[in-house]
Amino acid sequence: MLEQVISIIYASVTRRKYKLTLPMLLSALTALAVLLTLVVTLTASYHSQRQSLYDTTLQLNNTSATRMSLTMDSLFQSMHASLQTASAFLRDNPSLSEAGVLDHLEYSRKTSSYFNSIFWVNNKGIVKSISPPAIALKGKKLTTQASQEALAAKAPYVSTPYISATGRLIVLITEPVFDKQGSYQGYIGGTIYLHEKNILSTIFGSNLIDSAGSYFYVVDTTGKLVFHPDPDLLGDDVSANDVVRKLMKGFNGEEKVINTQGETFLAGFSNVTSNGWGIVVQSPVETIYEQLNRQIRSTAIYMGLPFLIIMLLAMFIARRLAMPFAALADYIGHAADGQSFSPPIKRNHWNREAFVLTQTVLGAVESMRKQSEELTHAALVDPLTGLLNRRALEEEMSKRAENEEPFSLVVLDIDRFKCVNDTLGHQVGDEVLKSLADVLNHSVRAHDMCCRFGGEEFVILLPGSGVEEAFHLAERIRLTIEKTATPANRVITVSLGIAAYPQHAADTNTLFKLADEALYAAKEAGRNRTMLAGQASSSDLQSKLPFSR
Ligand code: GH3
Ligand code: MG
Ligand code: MG
Repeated sequence: MLEQVISIIYASVTRRKYKLTLPMLLSALTALAVLLTLVVTLTASYHSQRQSLYDTTLQLNNTSATRMSLTMDSLFQSMHASLQTASAFLRDNPSLSEAGVLDHLEYSRKTSSYFNSIFWVNNKGIVKSISPPAIALKGKKLTTQASQEALAAKAPYVSTPYISATGRLIVLITEPVFDKQGSYQGYIGGTIYLHEKNILSTIFGSNLIDSAGSYFYVVDTTGKLVFHPDPDLLGDDVSANDVVRKLMKGFNGEEKVINTQGETFLAGFSNVTSNGWGIVVQSPVETIYEQLNRQIRSTAIYMGLPFLIIMLLAMFIARRLAMPFAALADYIGHAADGQSFSPPIKRNHWNREAFVLTQTVLGAVESMRKQSEELTHAALVDPLTGLLNRRALEEEMSKRAENEEPFSLVVLDIDRFKCVNDTLGHQVGDEVLKSLADVLNHSVRAHDMCCRFGGEEFVILLPGSGVEEAFHLAERIRLTIEKTATPANRVITVSLGIAAYPQHAADTNTLFKLADEALYAAKEAGRNRTMLAGQASSSDLQSKLPFSR
């Protein structure tokens, strides 16, 4: 699969006209590697932090729930003890006046502040005394289910939340009252007003939701809310909640839970031993995610700068590594194109491979250049005389004709050279050819071009010269040769023919032919002379010149 993807990318890149350069490729690869490392590191850190936040939150909530249930447990025991004291007081003082009973109840309520109200109900359900007396229930019969259950139980009793005779949502906690003979006299009841300041809010505080959105609630044995930050929910049945169900079965623990409003929480839960209530401490997962995102963002910022520096450094090194190879490719490209200018190249490189490759390539290019120069030289130079050869001449003529630059051709042939060869030998003949080449080289201007056209025939190309100038030069050469001592130890003469571009012909072949014809005309006319193109014999020009024949 991966191979397929790579081959598709490779194919699409190689098909494109635009090729990736090595520095680009290396930079892109290092940037990719650094970015991937950053992403992998952040992802791994995200997952591990999330797990650790989950675990820590669950554990913390569990610990809080356990601690609160222990507090609640001892609170309940104290509340029962307080009611028991009142119950024992009634038993021990059966003939106490109503005011005396009320005093005791008032004293009990005010000193402990466990209950919002404390009252004594006789075994007929009639309120005999109530603190605070402002609750005008004295002498009335309580018909609520909770009161009836408390009477029927004749034992310590804790109600579920219910609407009391005064219209409040309350929880009733009772302790039975027996006389000294042990017959049931009713109960002492204490109430907790769920919607008002009560013992639970006093103990657990009014700061019900912390900054992370964590909060706790308390359910009774039937799964009804007796304490919750949202007062509207008090008394609601939340037994459908998984955690509450577990609490009702008597379990303690911690788990992820979705509440009745569909929100996800991490909850710790614990049972209160003395009354069977349950406490749930929970934190919304959403705030954990927010906290996590904040952490990851700050991690990314902290890691981002060093990673950026590493990436830039890696890209810089990658470019530096790739640079000598790119420069070599450029250099070889220029060298292969035969361009005399090649980009400068750094010979000494800190990277060993780059250094070795550069040295090798430079050596190879240098020797190729030498070979090429030798071949060019061999292709254009006559080995015997060192003059340029016919090919060089033809190239130069074409170039000049193409650029329409005027020039003259002087074609020169040794007179009766065969005779030299025949009488003195070929070697002497060669020496004569060489000495003649010397004379030519010394007679022409720097920019004139002397060629050995073939055999004992030479051509001089005179750039920018007209017929007259060419004629002067030709004559000077002819006279010099005539006067110069030669390896043949005899006078050597030459005949010359001249043609000028574009005066005589616009085409180089014709021009050469005309010069050659002039040369042969000179031969015909008796040799050792110069003739111009188109002239059968010595022209006016020739006759006007002092040294012409
Ligand atoms: P003409 O005055 O008519 O030019 O007479 P010629 O003898 O110079 O003319 P021809 O063309 O009959 O002879 C040319 C001779 O040049 C023939 C050959 O022996 C000689 N030759 C040609 N190339 C060379 C060479 O490279 N070395 C030597 N030594 N002789 C050469
Ligand atoms: Mg000849
Ligand atoms: Mg000849």
